[in-house]
Order: sequence, then C-alpha cells, then structure tokens
Amino acid sequence: MDDVLIVTGGSRGIGAATALIAGRNGYAVCVNYLKNEEAAEKIVNEINSNGGRAIAVCADISLEEEVVDLFQTVDVQLGTVSALVNNAGILETQMRIADMDAARLNRVFLTNITGSFLCAREAVKRMSRKNGGNGGAIVNVSSAAARLGSPGEYVDYAASKGAIDTFTIGLAREVAEEGIRVNAVRPGIIDTDIHASGGEPGRVDRIKGTIPMKRGGSPEEVARAIMWLLSGESSYTTGALLDVSGGR
Ligand code: NAP
Repeated sequence: MDDVLIVTGGSRGIGAATALIAGRNGYAVCVNYLKNEEAAEKIVNEINSNGGRAIAVCADISLEEEVVDLFQTVDVQLGTVSALVNNAGILETQMRIADMDAARLNRVFLTNITGSFLCAREAVKRMSRKNGGNGGAIVNVSSAAARLGSPGEYVDYAASKGAIDTFTIGLAREVAEEGIRVNAVRPGIIDTDIHASGGEPGRVDRIKGTIPMKRGGSPEEVARAIMWLLSGESSYTTGALLDVSGGR
C-alpha cells in the first residue's frame, strides 16, 4: 500500500516542491490549494505523468468544515493518510504592530495556527495506533521568523510561527506513544511568491547579504528536509525544530 501524503498549500512554493519530490518517492499525494487551481493541476499532472499518483483538492484550511471535507476526500480517493505536511501559510503587507488591526491578526492566526491544528487533528484521528491506525508522520512548516521576530515587517506572522514551534513540541509528546512523529522545519529566506504578498517581491535580494551563506534558499532545499522528517530515516526524531536557513 502506498504512503498517502497531504500537502496543504501544495500548489506553489515549498509545498509544490514537496509534492513533486514525494510523488517521485512513491507517495500518493494530495495537493491542497486555496485559489490557484491551474498551479495545483500542473503539479498533479507532473506527478501523474511521471508514473506517480496525485490529486488536487481545493480547501481553505482555516475553515473547519473544509478541512473535514479535505481529509474525507483523501480517504476515498487515495486511502488513509500516513503523512501530513502542514505547509499552507500566509503573511500580509509589511507594517509595524502599531498599525495592525484585529481583522489582519485574525486572518494570519486563523490560517497559520488554527489551520495547522485542524489538519493535524484530522490526521491524528486516522494515524493513531490508539484508534487502530498505522501511525504516521507530520511535518509543520514553521519559520526562522519564530526566533527572529520580524520587527517592522510582520511580527504577527513571526508570532504565528512561534505558536507552530510550541504546537510541534506539544503534539509530538502527546502522540509519540501512538506511532506518530511530529516535527517542524524552520525555513529562512526562500525564493517563493510569499515575499510578493508582503509587498516586497525583491526581499530575497535585499536580505541575502545578511545570510551567512549569502544567498536565499530554494523551495527544493526545504522540501528535501521535509522529506527526511517524513521518512523512516528520521525514525527516532520527534518534536524537533530543524532550521533550513543558510545559517541565519
Ligand atoms: P507561497 O509561495 O505564498 O504559497 C502559499 C501556498 O499556500 C499556496 O499553495 C496557496 O494556495 C496556499 N494557501 C494559502 N492560504 C491557504 C489556505 N487558507 N488554505 C489552503 N491553502 C492555502 O508560500 P511559500 O513561501 O511556499 O510558504 C510555504 C510555507 O513556508 C508557509 O507556511 C510559510 O510561512 C513558510 N515559510 C516560507 C518562507 C519563505 O521565505 N518563502 C520562509 C519561512 C517559512 P494557492 O496557490 O491556491 O493560493
């Protein structure tokens, strides 16, 4: 039986790179997305045309009923989930805390924190040996921002990733006996569309001189760390926060 992987936000960036590598490594992959159906279908087609098995599923992970539907769709179309990458995440226009309103804070926290909790809940229900499941692995995509704080840019986003670090440690310890490992990667500055959503598409170029390796990372470099944490190669690793940040 194939390992079944759900990648939230698998249509673009780090999630898309993870879905492609997983597809090549024999996982049946669900590419979840929010709006960009064309990008999601492109990733799915690439996996399927290389002999893999993938589906695209539209679901807003910040909405409980859509998360429930997402996991039920995967049950039916791919089989019981054995791996989850909680990757979907957003940030908003760069600004100081003094200028942030509650609506913005709620949007960021709802997607980045609540969405990850809800997806993990649905995954744990199915994976837990306590419920007759076969175990599994969860990787949360946090950020180096969790320890840097992102002052003047998006402290709300950084704080949401701090929550993901704590969530990773807590969930890992909660389900360790049930055959489920839970870890996080903390990417640094990675070359994806997310910087444009913060209003600065050229952010990687501006910051790269401050990174010890003097360059931004690629989505594939993060995806390879995620794949290691999902695989049996990391069988005694749980509750770990793995920096993938060029030394920053
Ligand atoms: P990205 O290129 O902006 O892609 C975001 C992905 O998330 C897209 O697939 C998008 O779907 C999806 N998405 C957004 N909101 C969603 C929702 N409510 N429900 C379902 N899917 C949703 O982002 P990225 O840079 O690859 O970032 C991926 C993760 O890495 C995020 O958690 C981010 O915080 C983290 N990270 C990124 C960096 C970096 O420098 N890039 C650094 C540290 C951490 P659509 O295509 O449908 O819009």
